[in-house]
Amino acid sequence: MSAYPPGAAFIDGKFGKIEDAKISVLDWGFLRSDATYDVVHVWKGRFFRLDSHLDRFLASAEKLRMKLPYSRAEIASILAELVERTGFEDAYVEMIVTRGVSPTFSRDPRDAVNRFIAFAIPFGWILKPEEREKGLAIAVSEIPRIPPESVDPTVKNYHWLDLVMGMFDAYEQGARTCILTDGQGNITEGPGFNIFVVKDEQAATPKRGVLHGITRHAAILLLEELRVPVETRPVSLAELKDADEVFATSTAGGIMPVTKIGAHTVGDGKMGVMTRGLVDAYWAAHTRGDGWSVAVADIPRVALAAS
Ligand SMILES: *Cc1c(COP(=O)(O)O)cnc(C)c1O
Repeated sequence: MSAYPPGAAFIDGKFGKIEDAKISVLDWGFLRSDATYDVVHVWKGRFFRLDSHLDRFLASAEKLRMKLPYSRAEIASILAELVERTGFEDAYVEMIVTRGVSPTFSRDPRDAVNRFIAFAIPFGWILKPEEREKGLAIAVSEIPRIPPESVDPTVKNYHWLDLVMGMFDAYEQGARTCILTDGQGNITEGPGFNIFVVKDEQAATPKRGVLHGITRHAAILLLEELRVPVETRPVSLAELKDADEVFATSTAGGIMPVTKIGAHTVGDGKMGVMTRGLVDAYWAAHTRGDGWSVAVADIPRVALAAS
């Protein structure tokens, strides 16, 4: 197997091959996980909820006091060009801004020159479509999620050691992935996905201590269209175990049924009725306009002015 998937990258102002996209080991993005990123997907030639992803990325950079070297229109143009360079109909498109390196190697983060990187690679699944009926087996990790008072989880970030160690624990228990609690009996999220519980035809998803996932938001909008009441509020571990249906949401796979939680089987162990309706609505939304999706070819191309 090749060391790199096929793909295209944009780094230090230039487009190129993904295998040539490299950063200095002195970049604080690498040394300190001092970075923020976003991932949008392209399905059948259309970006899904691109505006929401750009809004979140720009807000995250601002919260981390980073300066993006490109405007919103320039970033959209770069992402579209990356997808066109790969020729992929379905793609996973990541944008990153790292703290960068200080030209004088000072320890003051204000001196660093922030670095923008983007790339497009083949679409990646947490749960493949052919595995959807069976659903995900998850384990609830003993490790609590980093508290939101310490690292703002609404900034998409690379502080993943709590999640990664939770994944190793999950594998040892025969599960596919993990979810973490807040350490006080409420669930938060898993490695790259949000969680919903459904009980008596009402849905709920954790309000605090989680990334506000774009797929989570899409699920809320679609559930409302399906006339399913949905709440964002604290969701306890007890509710997770007692739920009729549980599903996970992520750009990397969409709406994914969770059918096992540790040794406990959710419902009858198969994808539930509400989850199925939402999966269908989610994929149908990929051809809708109005902020839902936009053709890659329709993104205005702008000449890059910066750096
Ligand atoms: C990316 C991510 C999610 C899912 O967000 P989407 O915007 O739906 O892809 C959830 N939790 C964490 C920690 C993430 O990094």
